[in-house]
This record gives sequence, C-alpha cells and structure tokens, in this order.
Amino acid sequence: MSMKLEQALDKLKNSGIRMTPQRYAILSFLLDSKEHPTADDIYKALEDRFPSMSVATVYNNLKVFIESGLVRELTFGDNSSRFDADMSNHYHAQCEKCGVIVDFHYPTLTAIEQTAAEETGFVVKGHRVEVFGICRSCLNVTTH
Ligand code: ZN
Ligand code: MN
Repeated sequence: MSMKLEQALDKLKNSGIRMTPQRYAILSFLLDSKEHPTADDIYKALEDRFPSMSVATVYNNLKVFIESGLVRELTFGDNSSRFDADMSNHYHAQCEKCGVIVDFHYPTLTAIEQTAAEETGFVVKGHRVEVFGICRSCLNVTTH
C-alpha cells in the first residue's frame, strides 16, 4: 500500500467515514492517476470489478472524499468536473484540443486572496486559475 493511500485512509477513519471496497478502489485509482479523470472515467476503469456500481455511486463517493479534504474537484470552461487526489499546492493547464490537464507549480497566489478580501470585505475561501492552450502532443500533430 502506498504511503499516500495509507495517509488518506487514516484521514477518512479519523473523520468517521466508513471504508467500503468501492471507496477503497476509487481512492486508490485517483491516487495512482495523473490524468485528472472525470467520474465517468473512474466508473469505466472500475466497472468490471464492481458491476453493481453506477456513475452516480462514483460521484457520491467523490463528494465524500471532497468533504474530507482528500480530493479536489476541478471545473474548467467545459462543464465536466475532473478530480484530483493530489492535494499539494499546484495549478492546472488544460489543452483546448484534447482536454488533457497538466499540473504545474507556481507560488500560491495568496496576495490575490488578501487583496480580494480587503477590497470586497469577503471571507475568501479560495481562488481558481484557469490556464488553457494547446498541449505538446496536439502541437506535434499540427506541425507534422
Ligand atoms: Zn492536447
Ligand atoms: Mn493536479
């Protein structure tokens, strides 16, 4: 069992959330994935192992993970939510052609949150940065 999975399972246990075989499978799939899958992608990857599972089940379990702070939901310009179990501080760039989402690192933009709080009087809970363009493999397809 990976360190990350072990830590995630501990966190769930501490929040009093029951672990089921499906939850275990969804969480380990997400922790292993670099693809930022949709609920549908996760469902398709696991449906053979859990024939009674539906996309709605996957989605509900993801919500539980999000509430426990183990997974984050990414919403981009298109309306399909993608999921990420990598909770480290990082941002995402999405390819406009193939939809791939790639991680990149940048110092957390705390200044923008502070300014927003000061100017609006809001209690700021977070911010979203959307970087979009054409990924390397899509660029190669067009230039060859
Ligand atoms: Zn692409
Ligand atoms: Mn990510």
